[in-house]
Amino acid sequence: MDSEQTGSGEVTTPPAAAPVPPIAGDEYVEDPFADATLPGMPAPAMPDEQQDAERSDAPAADGPPAIPEPAELTEHGPARVIAMVNQKGGVGKTTSTVSLGAALAGYGRRVLLVDFDPQGAVAVSLGVNPNELDVTIYNLLTDPECHVGDVILSTDIVGLDLLPSNIDLSAAEVQLVSEVGREHSLARALRPVIPEYDIILIDCQPSLGLLTVNALTASEGVIIPMETEYFALRGVALLKDTIDKVASRLNPDLRIIGVLPTMFDPRTLHSREVLQTVQQAFGDAVFQTTISRTVKFPDAAVAGEPITAFAPGSAGADSYRQLAREVLAR
Ligand code: ADP
Ligand code: MG
Repeated sequence: MDSEQTGSGEVTTPPAAAPVPPIAGDEYVEDPFADATLPGMPAPAMPDEQQDAERSDAPAADGPPAIPEPAELTEHGPARVIAMVNQKGGVGKTTSTVSLGAALAGYGRRVLLVDFDPQGAVAVSLGVNPNELDVTIYNLLTDPECHVGDVILSTDIVGLDLLPSNIDLSAAEVQLVSEVGREHSLARALRPVIPEYDIILIDCQPSLGLLTVNALTASEGVIIPMETEYFALRGVALLKDTIDKVASRLNPDLRIIGVLPTMFDPRTLHSREVLQTVQQAFGDAVFQTTISRTVKFPDAAVAGEPITAFAPGSAGADSYRQLAREVLAR
């Protein structure tokens, strides 16, 4: 199961088994935080005075605030750039990038998905074999003659475009290290197309290395997909720390747009408890939307379609449409 159709392999437990092409640099070289476990909670994500505050204007009983329908757009751009980040693999970053992107396109937004993981899984999830591409984001980052418009591909989904990557991107990470302004390479590369899109979503690799720092530097906001599993909060303090550092040194606009609980199983007490813990840790930053665990996601990835096209009537597609509305409202 080394082909790009790996997802069909019905891999049993390993959560990081994404339907991706064979890769060489899978070993998270740049993850200095892998063992930085956090026994309890990360530092509160909210300002103290806001934390735990029983706000009387909060939604009544357990009715969360209604999520507004997105306004129709009469013109497009400039894009909000959002990085999908979690240095853990297999938490639903790529799935969320593709599904949220397609859902946003369904609301009439012009969306660009930036595959910023050398695994090229965004392309695969959209039915594109990244290893057959002549130009990818690698060329964009390393060749000043390469223009972003030459690399962008349109997809079968109206309004949804792709800036693909493949294994070459892992070389770019090494090459960038010696560049001046190396943290700004992606921001620079994306600048020409900012006016053309409403939303640009960057799917990050599972690491907090230079590529992810580039993604954070290029973004106004971060969405943190988080598996609703026991170890979900492990490493999250370091993720927050990285976001804070990028915000203070490179990109003052950066903020956390939301934490997205994924692989949620409402039937298990365990899943509900983890969700509560995440909500205690991140407060209002946690999206109302949770993404349940269902085999429809790997199935959609293998079919090379976003869930909203593969199973438009499914609960999974519904969830990502609701997430799209939440993101547009934040
Ligand atoms: P990441 O990009 O964080 O590594 P992926 O989005 O590739 O994570 O997801 C890892 C694996 O889990 C993939 O095989 C994907 O199809 C599957 N998956 C993602 N979200 C869900 C979900 N909500 N329910 C079940 N499987 C999921
Ligand atoms: Mg991924």
